[in-house]
Amino acid sequence: MLLRKVSQSSALCGSILRGPPVISGGQRVVSVHNSRLYATQAAQAVLEKPAAVSHDTATKVEKKTVAVESKSFAVNIFKGQIQTAQVFPYPSVMNEEQEQFLRELVGPVSKFFEEVNDPAKNDALEKVEDHTMQGLKEQGAFGLQVPADLGGLGLTNTQYARLVEIVGAHDLGVGITLGAHQSIGFKGILLFGNPAQKEKYLPKLATGEHIAAFCLTEPASGSDAASIKTTAVQSPCGQYFTLSGSKIWISNGGLAEIFTVFAKTPMKDPKTGEMKDKISAFIVERSFGGVTHGPPEKKMGIKASNTAEVYFDNVRVPADCVLGEVGGGFKVAMNILNNGRFGMAAALSGTMKAVITKAVDHAANRTQFGNKIHTYGAIQEKMAHMTMLHYVTESMAYMLSGNMDSGATEFQIEAAISKIFASPFSFTIECKYKVIIFLYVSPQDSGVERVMRDLRIFRIFEGTNDILRLFVALNGFQNAGNQLKSLQKALKNPIGNAGLLAGEMTKRAKRLKAGLSTGLTLQGTVHPELAQSGELTIKAIEQFGAVVEELLIKHGKKIIEEQFVQRRVADCAIDLYAMVVVLSRASRSLSQGSASAQHEKVLCETWCVEAHERIMQDIKALRSSESRQLYKNMRAISAALVQNGGVVAPHPLGF
Ligand SMILES: Cc1cc2nc3c(=O)[nH]c(=O)nc-3n(C[C@H](O)[C@H](O)[C@H](O)COP(=O)(O)OP(=O)(O)OC[C@H]3O[C@@H](n4cnc5c(N)ncnc54)[C@H](O)[C@@H]3O)c2cc1C
Repeated sequence: MLLRKVSQSSALCGSILRGPPVISGGQRVVSVHNSRLYATQAAQAVLEKPAAVSHDTATKVEKKTVAVESKSFAVNIFKGQIQTAQVFPYPSVMNEEQEQFLRELVGPVSKFFEEVNDPAKNDALEKVEDHTMQGLKEQGAFGLQVPADLGGLGLTNTQYARLVEIVGAHDLGVGITLGAHQSIGFKGILLFGNPAQKEKYLPKLATGEHIAAFCLTEPASGSDAASIKTTAVQSPCGQYFTLSGSKIWISNGGLAEIFTVFAKTPMKDPKTGEMKDKISAFIVERSFGGVTHGPPEKKMGIKASNTAEVYFDNVRVPADCVLGEVGGGFKVAMNILNNGRFGMAAALSGTMKAVITKAVDHAANRTQFGNKIHTYGAIQEKMAHMTMLHYVTESMAYMLSGNMDSGATEFQIEAAISKIFASPFSFTIECKYKVIIFLYVSPQDSGVERVMRDLRIFRIFEGTNDILRLFVALNGFQNAGNQLKSLQKALKNPIGNAGLLAGEMTKRAKRLKAGLSTGLTLQGTVHPELAQSGELTIKAIEQFGAVVEELLIKHGKKIIEEQFVQRRVADCAIDLYAMVVVLSRASRSLSQGSASAQHEKVLCETWCVEAHERIMQDIKALRSSESRQLYKNMRAISAALVQNGGVVAPHPLGF
């Protein structure tokens, strides 16, 4: 009961629960905040709107846009603007009591993972050992963010991040078991549950007596979550729903007692009287009957976590188990995922840190050609990149958790970026580590082989990175589109407004080409010692904003179909957010005169130079006509492969 000894005021949970109203999805991406379903559709709507409105209305809309100006850094860079509210200064959100409480937790949790949990054994057994599960439950690890008065630890997002970072450093299989339970399994109850639902379910979930699972994916519905086939039909008396369908790849599916299940409910359209299927979210107890699961999936990694198919066979679900509103389930699902993404970045920053420590140990002690290998440039480059990737990931995780704890409501692009950034780069670090220790330590002995397997999944679940990139780009375009209403209006009458468009474009292009200031600056915001990095960031934002505008003008609503473009735009946004988070964090360290300030300054400067170069490359590609030819080629290569059922070129030997 180490962690339970200390209880904490649940006051902060209020701010956690105020969570963001906006979210992600797939190619079908969502902006719930704006009551629009898919970002693709949303972007379309934005692009179409101006043509349909009168000048007066357009002016009103513009005024409204100004009034609800976004505080998100990521949203604003798509407009070539800077909004520093959520990124400077680097968030320090814990009060003394919260910090003290967290300090008291970190020691015992670390000790537990060092002394009790055995990741290799869990991996070999393909389950978390029973005594480890028991120990975790006793420590309160299953109810980290459940309010204290409902039996949990009532942690803020920042406190939660610090603890999952420890889990990520030791055992990602355990991390998924805990994350599937609280980051997605019952997060819906925390975010959308009514008081009765919270009181009924959270106490047993917090102690781990009941395990939770999140059931969205189906055999024919992965990224396209809106296409689920599971149904929930309301009884004529309105007292219950009959739920039928099956869900695949459900983490904790074989262990859970409580499921958050998404199903289609037929609903009458109040306007037309027509029946339409809408997604609703339900709390489903295994004890309702009709809930069964398949055997645990045989996986490549995170073997210790349970993944299973879950079947719902005419399950009678009481109407008071609807989570949120009937028909509002898509919003519930997307908010849950959006709210949990910072945790993935935090856990993976823990994994990265642990790997780096091992790499440093080896590089500092291994001698070849008469010198320690860390003295060789090839190894130094790997070590430097590992460290920068970790620094960025950690900075993103805690910036996000800090923003969320401060009540920010617009962080969906940043949350997606943190997941996209953390998941492949944790794997990159692992690869670099493997190269550094190559042929010296058996990968099995060092655990590196297990961690490499475990890390693969993070690019896939809770939104594949490809889909999240589209989400980042389309959301950004949508917001930039709002800003460009007058230009869009002109676009609807390109002949009449060609002069205006060309004039605007030429002015901006000339200004940027001549290196003239657009008025953007980070002076006085970043630490003076990081002024150069700040300027690089500004230059990149100016160019990025300009290219986004050019792309919107060029493609109009067809930007939705331009995935080659979207990917490159998303990569720029990711690098830009990474630049600003490290600028912010290193600035704080310099201002506070912390011991590591000069080291962090070098990390930040190096990152910013490299990121700026990448962004410029991407922007060049986005502007060049050669790129369009390359996209065309890639389409043709892919189509030929599909047509041929595989590689087209014959074998060089002819057989
Ligand atoms: C170990 C594990 C645990 C999981 N746990 C859970 C869980 O607890 N609960 C749950 O509900 N689900 C869970 N999942 C499911 C996971 O979220 C899905 O696998 C994921 O959403 C991707 O769906 P899919 O596998 O059907 O891929 P698909 O959607 O079929 O996608 C295949 C590929 O096509 C790409 N793609 C798809 N559509 C587009 C498009 N429009 N444009 C461009 N590219 C596209 C994708 O990026 C991907 O690369 C889990 C999966 C695994 C492997």
